Amino acid sequence: MDRLEIRHLGRVPYAEAYDLQRALLRSGRDHVLILEHPATITLGRRADPANIVGDPEAAGAEVITTDRGGDVTAHGPGQLVAYAIVSLDDDLASIPAHAHRMEDAVIATVSTFLAPDDVGGVGRLEGHPGVWVGIETSRPAKVAAMGIRTEVVEGTRRTMHGVALNVDIDLALFDTIVPCGIQGRPVTSLTQLGASASMTEVGTALAEELARALAPGRAVETASVLPVRSRDHRDSVGPMLDRRLRDAGVDPAAGLALGGRKPEWLRIPVRRDRGFDTTRSLIGDLNLVTVCEEAGCPNIFECWSDGTATFMVNGERCTRNCAFCLIDTRKPLALDPTEPARVAEAVDRMGLAHAVVTCVARDDLDDGGAGAIADTIRAIRDRRPGTRVEVLISDLAGDADDLQLILDARPDVVNHNLETVARLQRAVRPSAGYARSLAVLARARAAGFVTKSGIMVGLGETDEEVVVALGDLAAVGVQIVTIGQYLRPTADHAPIARHVDLSTFDWLAEQGRSLGLAHVQSSPLTRSSYHARTAAESAAPVELRRASIPG
Ligand code: SF4
Repeated sequence: MDRLEIRHLGRVPYAEAYDLQRALLRSGRDHVLILEHPATITLGRRADPANIVGDPEAAGAEVITTDRGGDVTAHGPGQLVAYAIVSLDDDLASIPAHAHRMEDAVIATVSTFLAPDDVGGVGRLEGHPGVWVGIETSRPAKVAAMGIRTEVVEGTRRTMHGVALNVDIDLALFDTIVPCGIQGRPVTSLTQLGASASMTEVGTALAEELARALAPGRAVETASVLPVRSRDHRDSVGPMLDRRLRDAGVDPAAGLALGGRKPEWLRIPVRRDRGFDTTRSLIGDLNLVTVCEEAGCPNIFECWSDGTATFMVNGERCTRNCAFCLIDTRKPLALDPTEPARVAEAVDRMGLAHAVVTCVARDDLDDGGAGAIADTIRAIRDRRPGTRVEVLISDLAGDADDLQLILDARPDVVNHNLETVARLQRAVRPSAGYARSLAVLARARAAGFVTKSGIMVGLGETDEEVVVALGDLAAVGVQIVTIGQYLRPTADHAPIARHVDLSTFDWLAEQGRSLGLAHVQSSPLTRSSYHARTAAESAAPVELRRASIPG
């Protein structure tokens, strides 16, 4: 039987966690996601709206109706939510048995940090799902809510949603609701009960108990976006990037020297031929921006000589500040409304059968720049109907409506890079997130698009962590993955932790394919758009053919 995958994801908005769960539900693989939500009130399937008695929005909480069992509950920072997306036996008893296993795990976790005798007992309360303290007293209080949903997916009963354990949450949020629709029963937290454990400690204990309860005897793989070292460790000094790397368990001083000798496989032959010059003058004539130049791509001689390039739209200044990226991060300029037509003209003049369009992140714009990307897709389609369009997009700050603007323009391939493993996300892409990127990809795939992602190696990850990330990409339905060597653009960027050798790239590709990825392009100089046409045609020939049939 497959192993249980446990992911500690940090803070994740409810809607992103929900879409991630739905993708994992379809994957058939067993996952437990442990996370916190921003302040959110959720109403379950049987919730009575009258159980919202205050003004959650005034308390900073979003109100969301969802499809789990149970009534109304509150989520927020300081509460650990554990979603179990696992397969159950398909008999009626399996659902309450699963709920009991989840509750048992929470009871064991609470009992690790509080002596049950000191709080009047920890356990279940007949007829009221969740975990309660004070069950041997006249005034029990709820410390963890529970709501689950099951569905039969390809013949197997699968479950999602789970438990929400109050560790150090601001309990005032619960004053806006009748928690779980039960009048007169208070809600409490581990902190209110006198426990002093950190979120990380409780999260680790909860993960162990859930693994024991849900997957006894099975292998467990855990990955986390959380710091591996305490936030207050004394040696965490120096520039911000160095501190973030140390927090992620990477010693920046141990990186390879900038300008040191590169291995043979990273030496790039300079190839300036007529094709290169033609591409360069066309891009200059049309005043276009390419990521080939802006990111200092090592493949520029090969790609431009072969008459391909990746257009970068929405300006040349990015609102993010990723530790691996050379793109300019000064204040962005206004969008140029002529850009979509100029990109389309370039695609036409270059005769591209497969155009790749990427963008800077534009968190300063209401739509994150999505509208202009959609306009570019349409402009290419209008100008050159037979050309496939692959978009390499930002996470759009997780906004599903902005993503939909792009999807409505029907790109042929939706590419969004995960960039690195879970542990290094905060260190090298502090404005992005592992769960958010998986949710973007999951949403695109759920909408029926060919999906693609990319990972850099050499930032301080282990090979095994890359395999975990490949598994997560496969689990949300990604079909194409690119893996390439990280190259440090300047001394202000993250150091190179290692040069990955050729056999490891091959091994990673094999691992990816064995996890279900249709196409894995893995080599030192692989970049997101490198040989993009071949990758798409090899991974999803049927879907691409179907997409090209009008109507
Ligand atoms: S790999 Fe992509 S970004 Fe690099 S030169 Fe080729 S087309 Fe441009």
